[in-house]
Amino acid sequence: MQNHGSPRRNRSVQAAQAACPGLINLVQAVDGGLCRIRLAGGRMTAVQARALAAAAREHAEGPLEITNRANLQLRGIRAEAGPGLIQALIDAGLGPLPASDRVDTVALSRRDARRNVMISPLAGIDPQMRIDTSALAADLLQAMQQDAALDGLSPKFAVLLDGGERLVDRRHPHDIWLCIDQRDLPQPPGLWLGLASAPAVPVHCPGYTAPQDAVTTVLALMRAFMELATAGQLRMRDVLADQGLQVLLSRARRHGARLKLATPPAGALPCATGVEPPLDPARLGQQPQAGGDLCLIGFQAPLARLDADMLEGLAELSSQLGRGELRFTPWQGGLLPHIRAVNAPAALTGLRQLGLITDAADPLARLLACAGRRGCARTQADTKADALRLARAELPPTGIHLSGCPRSCAAASPAGHTLLAVDGNHYDLYRRGSGRDFGECLGRHLTLEMATGIMRPPAAE
Ligand code: SF4
Repeated sequence: MQNHGSPRRNRSVQAAQAACPGLINLVQAVDGGLCRIRLAGGRMTAVQARALAAAAREHAEGPLEITNRANLQLRGIRAEAGPGLIQALIDAGLGPLPASDRVDTVALSRRDARRNVMISPLAGIDPQMRIDTSALAADLLQAMQQDAALDGLSPKFAVLLDGGERLVDRRHPHDIWLCIDQRDLPQPPGLWLGLASAPAVPVHCPGYTAPQDAVTTVLALMRAFMELATAGQLRMRDVLADQGLQVLLSRARRHGARLKLATPPAGALPCATGVEPPLDPARLGQQPQAGGDLCLIGFQAPLARLDADMLEGLAELSSQLGRGELRFTPWQGGLLPHIRAVNAPAALTGLRQLGLITDAADPLARLLACAGRRGCARTQADTKADALRLARAELPPTGIHLSGCPRSCAAASPAGHTLLAVDGNHYDLYRRGSGRDFGECLGRHLTLEMATGIMRPPAAE
């Protein structure tokens, strides 16, 4: 029986789509309208950045935020400003395809909602990468938007492409992921394919596909998912739990999936040990880039926030010192690629003058906080303000996440320490374990000072 399009499932998808902000679907928050701009590959041109900065000034009171999927969202959109803002963003080429179909806002909004393909911010420019996933991501994004059979896909349904770069979000589960074989083989098997897991935690990895078959295979899996998912089943893990892997693969084959069944041998996939990207000093400051005397400069926005001046300043730096391209990361920051090494000091100075962090030793480079009191009605505390207070304290060398409620919007994966607000002045403190939850509870109903005392590393003797 095909469940795709059943009235009950449609209602659950519509509810999910309505609650999830997009470029067309603005959602009301405490501080005004909220618009999420999904960036293809986390990238935008300097021209687009200037257009977005101008639109933000004209239509919104709030800041821009870098999301944990390397997108940007604009807060505080004024009442009645939605249509003008949406038009400005579509005109800047930041909307879904095809732009000529813009009169059909429902179709446009659905296409926008499924633009969830994540690649490394270093894709195509990392000396260590094994393949450049940029073109594959672009082809996949286009095919996903054009496939009307995917109209009911949840806006949370996401794909990850791992090309073996230094920095990839490879521990966070994705509905579908593809990962290049990590071994040095004369004829590598291609891209390992996984479901409802992550390349470094490959719970479901039934086999591999050739790069030229990757788009067809991912689309076939999505179509199979759409047909098998029943009401309330919005993610791949739901269908796998309900119907099992073999049913899904068999249905995907009918849609043209080309998958060679195999178990990944040791070393074929990345391991889960090592420094996580959010704590990796290699994501900030001057870093190597493939090709000639070029380098890239990584930065972090304090608590993920940028204002229009900062975005315009980034556009200016990328135009003057790079090739007019900006990339954003899932770790509250971004990078300026294609900078000649001789211009790196000027780029670093420019970023610091904009108020951006380029040094991993800065405490704000390790602090995450959700929208907090000014942006979210659910919050129990002013997480952003508390994070700024915390940045002045002596902190452990872990990531620290302040969450206004258990939804954990600011962190896709559990941070080293999580402070979960319980009221305006108190937090429960957790230390990450091996699971997907916040981890071991180290204390309840703590003031920030008490929590800092528990987290602080013991003084050296
Ligand atoms: S984690 Fe909770 S309080 Fe924070 S932004 Fe998300 S929903 Fe709001």
